[in-house]
Amino acid sequence: MAVHRPATPLDARSLYAAYPFLPGAEALLEPDRVSIRSLLDDPAYSRPRAIGAARVLAAADDPRATRDVAELDRAGPEERYLSFLFAEIVLAAAPSAAGLRRWAVAEAKRTYARLADAPVEELLEVAGRLGFAAEPAGNGKVALPLVDYLRLAVPIREADFRLSRQEVEHGKVRVGRVRAARLVQEAIRLRLGVALPLAEEVRQRVREQEADLFRALAERTPAPVARTGPGATIVRPELFPPCIRKMLRMLQSGENLSHAGRFGLAAFLHRAGADFESIVDAYRGAPDFDESITRYQVEHITRHDGGAGYTPPECDTLRSHGLCFREGDPGAERPADRLRDEMCFRPDLRHPLQYYRWKGGKVVEPERESATGPGEARGRPAAPGRSRSTDRR
Ligand code: SF4
Repeated sequence: MAVHRPATPLDARSLYAAYPFLPGAEALLEPDRVSIRSLLDDPAYSRPRAIGAARVLAAADDPRATRDVAELDRAGPEERYLSFLFAEIVLAAAPSAAGLRRWAVAEAKRTYARLADAPVEELLEVAGRLGFAAEPAGNGKVALPLVDYLRLAVPIREADFRLSRQEVEHGKVRVGRVRAARLVQEAIRLRLGVALPLAEEVRQRVREQEADLFRALAERTPAPVARTGPGATIVRPELFPPCIRKMLRMLQSGENLSHAGRFGLAAFLHRAGADFESIVDAYRGAPDFDESITRYQVEHITRHDGGAGYTPPECDTLRSHGLCFREGDPGAERPADRLRDEMCFRPDLRHPLQYYRWKGGKVVEPERESATGPGEARGRPAAPGRSRSTDRR
């Protein structure tokens, strides 16, 4: 049972130490100013840098923030703030946005764990400082303007957050404290997911100085690898179609991927020959990642029908779910991902696996097929709720 902390208002130092992303938290350093250069280079700040690096790696390892960061728990308010700032600067300079998004998810979840157990006054204080006009609504509830509610609740995608299930009165939505904390979590994720603007010279310096940290981060978001045993092949992520590459990027960077996307990705990776563990790994960045649920779901998708696995959805299906990215992904980091993909516009392309095969990737045929010869469609399992395609996948 949760033990709620008493409603003693936090003093400014404690508030900023607990919530270093709040506007004004830099007041913790006064009267001294700490320049970015000092924070990055000065031996006096080696400890905040070490704690900041620990925050970054902890987020990559554990995006759900289920474990405490020991170094953080022992840090004073100034160190906590500086370590937060260091992490924010490093991740803004990172070659990939994946680390930043995962960190944003982990920091937001860590804050949720505190707020869900905090006095409602503390929750209102944090929401207010983040720019949301939350107000007490009696019986421990919180009222939010409808527009704010929608902005925060829409990305959550949980049925309990649908507007039709809320108490709405005079343009305000009334929610319980825990649900309000979950909305604030989303506000923090959105805020921290935007990289700090850095001068090019700072970005380059950080990349040089923190090369080891970036390497460690990259190792924590590995590309899918092939399974071993009968039918083993080489997985070629660089040949994946735009839809699959986008889904992987979304998960790596802590964005929510719809149920249809999650299913389609696991089914595709399985047929592309990826091993079970690396399919599970692909989901580690999801904001709601749960190891045991993910393993169960991936197992269900890949072991279906005696190991053949479910058939991944066709292009038409992915398109109807808004998951086709053949026009390019304007927000992608790599220029190649931003471009329209001409192969995806061929009239005879009907399936992402077909694309992968055309590009030179090897698709693992379900075992029953290999018994009758490659390329024969007989006995192939259909995707759940879908009719079987006649196209060779
Ligand atoms: S056309 Fe098909 S393979 Fe290409 S991005 Fe769209 S869904 Fe994926």
